[in-house]
Amino acid sequence: MNLNTNAEITWCPGCGNFGILIAIKNAINELIGEGIKKENMVIASGIGCHAKIVDYVNVNSFYSIHGRVPPTLTGMKLANKKLVAIGFAGDGDMYDEGISHLIHAAKRNTDITMIIHDNRVFALTTGQFTATSPKGFKGKSTPKGSIENPINPIKLMLAAGATFVARGYAGKPDHLKELIKKAVRHKGFSFVEVLQPCVTFNNTYQEYNRKVYDLNAEGHDTSSFELAMKKANEWKEKIPIGVFYETQKQVFEENY
Ligand code: SF4
Repeated sequence: MNLNTNAEITWCPGCGNFGILIAIKNAINELIGEGIKKENMVIASGIGCHAKIVDYVNVNSFYSIHGRVPPTLTGMKLANKKLVAIGFAGDGDMYDEGISHLIHAAKRNTDITMIIHDNRVFALTTGQFTATSPKGFKGKSTPKGSIENPINPIKLMLAAGATFVARGYAGKPDHLKELIKKAVRHKGFSFVEVLQPCVTFNNTYQEYNRKVYDLNAEGHDTSSFELAMKKANEWKEKIPIGVFYETQKQVFEENY
């Protein structure tokens, strides 16, 4: 199915968002092939470069406000449990502006999927540091380098009670497509952190291409919380992508 729209794509050439766009379109097409009805799908975004993605995929969509994608999708699910609700957010959007909403959606185990375009910079506003920018990051708001340590989104979501925790890479759209499909099929709150290079303000392609590896190809036990926490610590030499953790818990809207 052609999921293109008439909207002109205004991302910078080479932006990691293109890999995420390919992955989500292919994932939606394959999920429709598995029997999910297109009219039961809805996508929502926050504010930032990532947010334009809802204009580029031809399914029901909602352009939300900064940091508020999880409560937006939660409201939709409470009103209509049949919906397959997929949210997109950036790191500044979700780990700064809306971090409490993300934590509470994970804690409630609302049956939604959150995909975070983590370029580790506020890109739409031209280069301020975010909660995941590395220590020493130089940008408009930190000209001498950030003095803060970044948060670890995988550990944060594991600690908050997310029942599906994964990481993908925009440079591997086929792998990311499979992760998104697993996240959507999962009953409960699904979290997919995506390493997304921003070629203009934080170009991380070389680093990620060198370090990224598939932890599931190495036989990682996704039922072990302790192992997921341990794997989430890896970053300096190698960066794991894939499903870190998956479990089943009572779903919020089914108990509401
Ligand atoms: Fe992508 Fe960065 Fe350009 Fe935004 S500023 S479109 S994140 S490359």
